[in-house]
Amino acid sequence: MPTLVMKFGGTSVATLDRIRRAAKRVGREVANGYDVIVIVSAMSGETNKLVGFVEETGSFYDAREYDAVVSSGENVTAGLMALTLQEMDVPARSWQGWQVPLLTTSAHASARIEEIPTDNINGKFAEGMRVAVVAGFQGISPEGRITTLGRGGSDTTAVAFAAAFGAERCDIYTDVDGVYTTDPRITSKARKLDKISFEEMLELASLGAKVLQTRSVELAMRYNVRLRVLSSFEEMSDNAGTLVCAEEDIMESNVVAGVAYSREEAKMTLQSVEDRPGIAAAIFGPLAEAGVNVDMIVQNISDGGMTDMTFSCPVGEVARAEKAMADAKAAGDIGFAGLVADTDVAKVSIVGIGMRSHAGVAAKMFQTLRDEGVNIKVITTSEIKVSVLIDRKYMELAVQALHDAFGLEKAA
Ligand code: ASP
Ligand code: MG
Repeated sequence: MPTLVMKFGGTSVATLDRIRRAAKRVGREVANGYDVIVIVSAMSGETNKLVGFVEETGSFYDAREYDAVVSSGENVTAGLMALTLQEMDVPARSWQGWQVPLLTTSAHASARIEEIPTDNINGKFAEGMRVAVVAGFQGISPEGRITTLGRGGSDTTAVAFAAAFGAERCDIYTDVDGVYTTDPRITSKARKLDKISFEEMLELASLGAKVLQTRSVELAMRYNVRLRVLSSFEEMSDNAGTLVCAEEDIMESNVVAGVAYSREEAKMTLQSVEDRPGIAAAIFGPLAEAGVNVDMIVQNISDGGMTDMTFSCPVGEVARAEKAMADAKAAGDIGFAGLVADTDVAKVSIVGIGMRSHAGVAAKMFQTLRDEGVNIKVITTSEIKVSVLIDRKYMELAVQALHDAFGLEKAA
């Protein structure tokens, strides 16, 4: 029988009533002839609560016990989902990560999936089980300890199962009805996309569109898993959601697929650093070691052997970055005249695979921002993305203006 993976996020399993509604959707796919692998998140709020308990025990907790605690929310929903399906006469059983087993690395709290042997679950399908309900977010390390995959990791569990079992599709049920051209809270003109390519989704996901864990999209792209994002709250009939798929499966699309933003950014400038081989390594090595997620980097042309180096990072990491730079200076590894932090900036990006074949997209973005009187502080580009750093107070305005300028309220 063909296999389908259906993943239900925290809001879709937040109460027994919602679990029943989700189970009905599963039952319908079973009636359609699918063997179904259901991946569940913990009830919404549950993982946060568990993380809070662990943090209360002290600041230097054992990551292995952290995983033992925070993985438990998914055990509850997996069992409840299986029970609910059984009540509906659907042959189902639950599986915790270690029972499958979902084999991971030993990097606790952010483990990577190594392998998912399919024999155990397939054996049960062969015996007549129709639904395997698997606890998302968790696995087992080579040492035999419970691991978790990082926050939002049950999306990645779902895609990994779809790849391992050759599922026809991986449906991600969430509290939004799909992927939008931008955040509908910022402009009511935001439009739900019927389809989006893996590449575009990857850019949007890592740029702060929080629909899917970034790693799940990477995995879907690598194994060509067709992903559908849809709401578990709408009527079953008109719930097509957004299909995340290979570029070849999309006939027509706008040059720009979406406008993303990230509010809590900071711009840091190291003034007058020596322009010599190894200077970038001497700056960004210590930043990486300090756990600073550097995003954009701009090195000015040098002026008499000296140059300014500007980079952006999340606002919350500014203090760490300052300390890392001060330490490197004290150790004599780098020299600089000053370190200026601008913590009132936001990043706005346009994303679209159409940029590969259309000229003038970046220019149009810059003209649009000029017309709104928005000053651009830093620019970076990739093949399918242009990002700018601007004053945070203009972020909404910039997103709205760009959404209008690229005609995103209408499909191609
Ligand atoms: N429950 C976990 C979290 O909140 C995993 C997930 O829902 O994807 O991060
Ligand atoms: Mg999630």
